[in-house]
Amino acid sequence: MKNSFSYWEQESFLNGFDVLIVGSGIVGLSAALSLKSQSPRLKIGVLEAGFLPGGASTKNAGFACFGSISELIEELKIGSEDEIAELIELRWKGLKKLRENLGDKAISFEQYGGYEVFKTTEADFANTCNEQIPYFNKLIGSIIGKTDIYAVNNDKIADFGMNGITNLIRNKYEGQIDTGKMMKALLSKVQGMGITVFNNCQVQKIESNSNDQLLITNQGKFQTRSIILATNALSKELIPDLDVIPGRGQVLITEPIPGLKIKGSFHYNRGYTYFRNIDDRILLGGGRDLDFEAEQTLEPGITDIIQTYLEKLLFETILPEQKVKIEHRWSGVMGFGKELKPIVKKIRPGLYCAVRCNGMGVAMGSLLGEQVAELIEI
Ligand SMILES: Cc1cc2nc3c(=O)[nH]c(=O)nc-3n(C[C@H](O)[C@H](O)[C@H](O)COP(=O)(O)OP(=O)(O)OC[C@H]3O[C@@H](n4cnc5c(N)ncnc54)[C@H](O)[C@@H]3O)c2cc1C
Repeated sequence: MKNSFSYWEQESFLNGFDVLIVGSGIVGLSAALSLKSQSPRLKIGVLEAGFLPGGASTKNAGFACFGSISELIEELKIGSEDEIAELIELRWKGLKKLRENLGDKAISFEQYGGYEVFKTTEADFANTCNEQIPYFNKLIGSIIGKTDIYAVNNDKIADFGMNGITNLIRNKYEGQIDTGKMMKALLSKVQGMGITVFNNCQVQKIESNSNDQLLITNQGKFQTRSIILATNALSKELIPDLDVIPGRGQVLITEPIPGLKIKGSFHYNRGYTYFRNIDDRILLGGGRDLDFEAEQTLEPGITDIIQTYLEKLLFETILPEQKVKIEHRWSGVMGFGKELKPIVKKIRPGLYCAVRCNGMGVAMGSLLGEQVAELIEI
């Protein structure tokens, strides 16, 4: 520890925390927001390793969704009907909370609807999914209070100008947000409430005493009464016992496309591939299933195998015969585990966590932040 801080820095910035949150993603910032709203007197800080929020919250696709039919069918192979219903509820309520916390304008929330697309070559798979629509409308209807959620909507295919798509399932309650605006709004709300967010501050170790928690960081030591870990894919580096496995997602975005016909959030291949309109561009991502092993990494980066797949889908199916440039590519890392359920719990006295959104943290992150805040005993 360098310990070259002045008296003033120590007194005003560094000392006397009631709660320190590790990670300034959607979960960490939502936890800070909930805690401060519940108990305005608490001194709360957020320690973030990145120059910007460094995790999936600023890298994602901005789908405000709760599951496409084929994705839910896959999830039912891992969890029971009750467990999947619970997950859908977390996503639905989480989105409601996100919109309440920040307001639709601040996050550019648009309910253009979601669409699951099936290629002509996938007719059997499409039929299986179509047959499951009544089942999922009933299951999800009991959660969200609407029964007309999914419907086959093949009349709409021609409007989007795609090639080789012959089955389309619409989810009329799905929306999209501007991820960058959402994170900026969340940060500024949290900071406006008097919560300090420390960037370039990586927690390397946590030491617990009977009353205090000590966080050893690259900037020095912080002391607090309670800690919330909202460290997502990186959680195992601090708490090795947590079942959190990284899964990288790669994304590309095109240049602006005059007269773009695609509007909405689109799912393909069991949720592994997704695309949407944003600012007259197409954002397209996914393909992790092509190379699970290589994508189980914490390293940022893009690979030929996945980028080639995304480009092929873009130019052959989504924007056929259009000469469009890809302007930018990036990746982000999600936190997965053996179970689909996120981990929100007390690890030991004074140490709590809310991690592992399983690729749906835009949807459930605000609620998980609130849930972990409610666990804190102060
Ligand atoms: C490409 C991609 C597309 C996605 N699309 C969607 C989507 O459309 N809809 C949806 O609902 N979800 C989507 N997700 C998932 C969603 O983005 C995540 O589930 C969500 O952002 C997780 O939020 P979080 O706060 O738990 O974690 P993160 O945003 O990952 O935040 C964790 C933070 O902790 C910090 N940190 C970690 N370790 C330390 C440490 N030791 N010290 C200090 N700081 C630390 C990290 O720097 C990071 O900022 C997508 C994810 C990716 C990668």
